[in-house]
Amino acid sequence: MRRVSDRAEAFTDSVIRRMTRISDEYGAINLSQGFPDFDPPREILDALEKVVYAGPHQYSITFGAKNLRDALARKHEKTVGRQVDPETEVLVTCGSTEAMICAMMSICNPGDKVMVFSPFYENYGADAILAGAEPIYIPLVPPDYGFDIRLVEQGFREGAKAIIICNPSNPCGKVFLQEELEAIGALAVAYDAFVVTDEVYEYLVYPPYTHTCMASLPGMYEHTITCNSLSKTYSITGWRLGYLIGPAEIVEAAKKIHDFLTVGAAAPLQEAAVTALQLPDSYYEELRALYTRKREYMLTGLDRIGLKHNIPQGTYFVLVDIREFLELPQFAGYTDLEFCEWMIREIGVAAVPGSSFFHEEVNHLIRLHFARSEDTLREALKRLEKLAALIR
Ligand code: GLN
Repeated sequence: MRRVSDRAEAFTDSVIRRMTRISDEYGAINLSQGFPDFDPPREILDALEKVVYAGPHQYSITFGAKNLRDALARKHEKTVGRQVDPETEVLVTCGSTEAMICAMMSICNPGDKVMVFSPFYENYGADAILAGAEPIYIPLVPPDYGFDIRLVEQGFREGAKAIIICNPSNPCGKVFLQEELEAIGALAVAYDAFVVTDEVYEYLVYPPYTHTCMASLPGMYEHTITCNSLSKTYSITGWRLGYLIGPAEIVEAAKKIHDFLTVGAAAPLQEAAVTALQLPDSYYEELRALYTRKREYMLTGLDRIGLKHNIPQGTYFVLVDIREFLELPQFAGYTDLEFCEWMIREIGVAAVPGSSFFHEEVNHLIRLHFARSEDTLREALKRLEKLAALIR
């Protein structure tokens, strides 16, 4: 019978990416899918220009160009304080998106349980289905999005093979404290389970919070698959460059999966990206300072116009509470998705409905991002003021 697979029918398209398409259709300011509207660092663009004529233009080594793997290994060595073998422990992927699905497919058998914090980045739901895993959701509780470690222990007791940690966390902006990671790590070791981390926002962390890499904690390297990307750190989301680093026997499995899924990431872009990894420490400080200013501008703006929101500890996302709007007669019966669609059409600003991130029934939050120039954020806030006027 000509019918698509149950697997393909088990999840929808990404609501995040769908909101970008709708936003483009209406010419709205897109604060839905998170990506910058400003240029990558000049050094990277210069490197890319050189690559155009000097190459490479053919396949790189499937597992990633050697010079890029070397650079990534050196970076990770500094973070984890131990040697990282670029030949056996590093895999270059097409974005952290591919790193995550490779990690999941490398460790999960059909029916295996995997813990996922809720709210979660929507890819993890599809990743679990594609890997045949069953998610166990651990709620992150507002306002600080803390969690009950006893639920994590219960998950491991029920046989969870792994736990996924997005740190800093999309969409709620939680930065996991070292103590929290140590507690989860101790359980993962005790139950001989894996930790899969997605650390793409590692540099977007706001004082007083600091980022701790799970694999850097004592005894955790052997249990952790670190997934990361160059997208956010170097403002090159369209280059689709990510990586996975972990113990050799797991990376060995991930390499095979990656090979047959994609063969490899774009060779010219890998070559240019080596330059990104050579940027001085001051680059990362400036990046943090840049986003700290954007966050301040956005949060102060939302306060001024009277929209309620969370305080993100990291990432470039903010969750806005739309409960008061949904109580207005004109929005009676609206889902958060319908509200976001209305917002694109009538307000000219695109957001992501919160329900796409929560396992629980949540209909009262929308996610905005602030990876935009100050002019764009000013215009977006001006438009959102029209929205806020409805509840004044
Ligand atoms: N991480 C970004 C977001 O959540 C974009 C991810 C993506 O679309 N690959 O909006």
